[in-house]
Amino acid sequence: MNRIHNFSAGPAILPTEVLQEAQAELLNYQGSGMSIMEMSHRGKHYDAVHQEALANFRELLSVPDDYGILLMQGGATSQFSLVPMNLRLEGRVADYINSGSWSKKAIKEAKILGNVNVAADCGSEIPTRQARQEELKLSDNAAYLHCCSNETISGAQIKQFPKSNAPLVADMSSDILSRRLTISDFGLIYAGAQKNLGPAGVTLVIVRKDLAAGVSESVPEMFRYQTHLENDSLYNTPPTFGVYLLCLVTRWLKAKGGVDAMEALNDRKANKLYTAIDGSEFYTGTAVPEFRSTMNVTFRLPTEELEKQFIAEAGKKDMDGLKGHRSVGGIRASIYNAFPEEGVDALVAFMKEFEQTNG
Ligand SMILES: *Cc1c(COP(=O)(O)O)cnc(C)c1O
Repeated sequence: MNRIHNFSAGPAILPTEVLQEAQAELLNYQGSGMSIMEMSHRGKHYDAVHQEALANFRELLSVPDDYGILLMQGGATSQFSLVPMNLRLEGRVADYINSGSWSKKAIKEAKILGNVNVAADCGSEIPTRQARQEELKLSDNAAYLHCCSNETISGAQIKQFPKSNAPLVADMSSDILSRRLTISDFGLIYAGAQKNLGPAGVTLVIVRKDLAAGVSESVPEMFRYQTHLENDSLYNTPPTFGVYLLCLVTRWLKAKGGVDAMEALNDRKANKLYTAIDGSEFYTGTAVPEFRSTMNVTFRLPTEELEKQFIAEAGKKDMDGLKGHRSVGGIRASIYNAFPEEGVDALVAFMKEFEQTNG
């Protein structure tokens, strides 16, 4: 099987077993004579998949009953607008932490819809980091506090979530299901699927039901969390094939031992790379060490020339997707849940070899 080491930041690697299963039942889903993507979203086959995906998420993340789980569309980018549309109670300010590119985009959208207080700004700092609790300048009566749990581009991840009196909203697009969470610490969590959950096209939202219920009448039906809550995410046609793949990924995660097992594996994978970086004078980690991401490992080489050469030679060894985001350069190894440990070992071995020849 010609599967390469796929370090893509997103859309990203999916478990091979999941793709094989989808392939096996692509033409004839469970004896129906149709593909799952060719059938009604109100029929029994799709409904079973839809309900199982929701139930598996609830189980994997221990989501309490007073929270709804929604399967939406429009990506995390739509959530940048939907959060303020739904949660901004009339005339109130929303607190935002700027920790980099993605939170900056969320702030930009929220400003279109109302008042934003930037509670901490570390968005343009290199090396990059997340905000510390003691530096937060929180508003007195904020509608919510927004953070990005893992800045996919810089590789800076929140290790201890911020505390405030307002409900906490987190963009977890690139680290949802990578580690254990206490859902009751949050008012709302959202994540585009294409990094750690499945293919692009599905957006997961976990929302405390009382917050969703506070939506203003002026918000269109389709853009209300409440609408999707009341209709079990079947208000309109859901992205059926994406939800099906998500269902397979959640089954795969359960079989692998769930979020606790994934967290241990993710820590081990990331540690191998950070140990390789710290053990050399040649490689330099991009993120401030206490905020180093377990999902997106970012680092630099002594020159941009060497970085280009590194990426090209890695490519010849079947390692793809290592080029850092165009806005920051450098190297980024994205090692989501589905990325196998052998691929990390291969990269560590290549890093040593490359340093020996070029260091
Ligand atoms: C990828 C990403 C987004 C954007 O997701 P889309 O699905 O493209 O809208 C937002 N936030 C974070 C943290 C991301 O990694």
